[in-house]
Amino acid sequence: MLVLLDNGHGGLINGVYQTSGKQKDWGPQGVFYEGEFNRAIVNGIIEALTRLGIRYVNITPEYRDVTLQTRVNRANRYNFKDAFLVSVHANAGGGSGFEVYTSPGETKSDAIATVFGDAFQSEFPKEILRHDFSDFDLDKERRFFLLRKTKMPAVLTENFFMDSLKDFQSILNTKEGRERIVKYHVNAITRIQNQIF
Ligand SMILES: [Zn+2]
Repeated sequence: MLVLLDNGHGGLINGVYQTSGKQKDWGPQGVFYEGEFNRAIVNGIIEALTRLGIRYVNITPEYRDVTLQTRVNRANRYNFKDAFLVSVHANAGGGSGFEVYTSPGETKSDAIATVFGDAFQSEFPKEILRHDFSDFDLDKERRFFLLRKTKMPAVLTENFFMDSLKDFQSILNTKEGRERIVKYHVNAITRIQNQIF
């Protein structure tokens, strides 16, 4: 099994955020940059997978933003029968909790998404695992490009809401909160290795 890791959006280069939008200014409490968060989570996953001897590729190692088409092209270089892709994000738009998206009509993706949902709920039993995916806004449709165009099973995790002050203060902007998000991703990946691949 090969895990393809994708950190959504661009990061910070010399203090300059590389993506328009995808951030939340909480004033004196600080600024949340989604691309920085996504990279922190992916870097934590990488550290754990290295320790566990699980093969991975970070398909977006740079800090500048990379188009969805480039991400798809990079992912599709790998053997789709052996690999799956997880793209890490934080949510916005009012709400709290966790959502996972999959490529439509792909049974292996659905099984993988279920494992991520279960792992999230085990790590955060009091938080909300959101099941209602009927209200697709434009942004969510765009995210699906990556899920539709990659040849291997693919999921996208939306980890808490950057525009929720509670999520920002208690989880997204804390070392412990980020470590727990890393932990449930790694737990999910090890379960996927044992149960699906
Ligand atoms: Zn995102």
